[in-house]
Amino acid sequence: MTAHSDPRMSRQITPGAAPFQVSFEFFPPKTDVMEERFWDSIGKLAPLHPRFVSVTYGAGGTTRERTLRMVSRIKSDTGVDAAAHLTCVGASRDEVDAVVRGYQAVGVNRIVALRGDPPEGTGQPFVAHPEGYQNAAELVAGIRRIGDFDISVSAYPEKHPQSPNWDAEIDNLKRKLGAGASRAITQMFFDNDDYFRLLDRAEKAGITAPIVPGIQPIHSFKQISSFAARCGATIPNWVAQRFEGLDEDPETHALVASAVAAEQVLELVDQGITEFHFYTLNRANLVLALARLLGVRPS
Ligand code: FAD
Repeated sequence: MTAHSDPRMSRQITPGAAPFQVSFEFFPPKTDVMEERFWDSIGKLAPLHPRFVSVTYGAGGTTRERTLRMVSRIKSDTGVDAAAHLTCVGASRDEVDAVVRGYQAVGVNRIVALRGDPPEGTGQPFVAHPEGYQNAAELVAGIRRIGDFDISVSAYPEKHPQSPNWDAEIDNLKRKLGAGASRAITQMFFDNDDYFRLLDRAEKAGITAPIVPGIQPIHSFKQISSFAARCGATIPNWVAQRFEGLDEDPETHALVASAVAAEQVLELVDQGITEFHFYTLNRANLVLALARLLGVRPS
């Protein structure tokens, strides 16, 4: 294999010998049809040897059984490492600990540990269960007490909507990592400068753990802009303009989505980023294309 180097950029990508690590996030399917698409996408992405495939945890633990079933089957059927998300919304410590032990029992030793949001929605104030973990940092410490898990936590390039300021935001990230997490994965973002500013702030605060960019390909502009609004992520005007008028033109929409995500990922590569977490929404194609750009291919 020869390295492909782009004369206009510092990028050097060698197919098949990628120095890049990827992970893929899925959500637990609700119906048989969705489950079919889930496994089809897993089947396409597992051969890329991701660091792990993660499965989210529905608001308030509503997907507890399905998350467990999916992660355990991903591990047994594909051999790929699976990470289970876990939140502490609406559950006592004992209940959350029981879920952690359930993951442990099926051999899942990676957890993405989150506080979660109230069932009423992301804009509502979070009220912890009276006997529950108060936040993600406490949850990480609780998981650590149970076993030797590889724990990831969240990070926010645009600050968590409930953080009063950046000092509080970075202190919280530091607490979560200090409690025993080994990496942070970011919320979706579309302006790479926000991510680089987060890295600068973290570095200044003495954080050395990796902060992996969470990349959300825009499969559907309508859907992603609604997700983004709910979690406090901004879609810049220049991104919105690219999708303008494409609601009824899925083919052009898909091409633009691919170009926008490719531009974002390759700009991160140019700045030395080597690890990526892709929000798949249980669809493989766009993510497969992006992985290919990174030289990450099935073997
Ligand atoms: P935390 O890190 O605990 O912080 C939340 C807020 O509380 C911050 O503003 C923080 O500053 C503040 N805070 C924390 N501790 C303190 C303290 N001691 N004193 C004062 N303020 C404090 N949600 C799901 O329901 N299921 C999922 O599977 C899921 N997966 C996700 C994966 C990733 C990669 C990301 C980025 C988010 C995910 N979420 C998921 C969303 C997440 O649950 C929400 O963003 C939630 O609002 C915050 O969770 P957190 O773990 O970031 O909270």
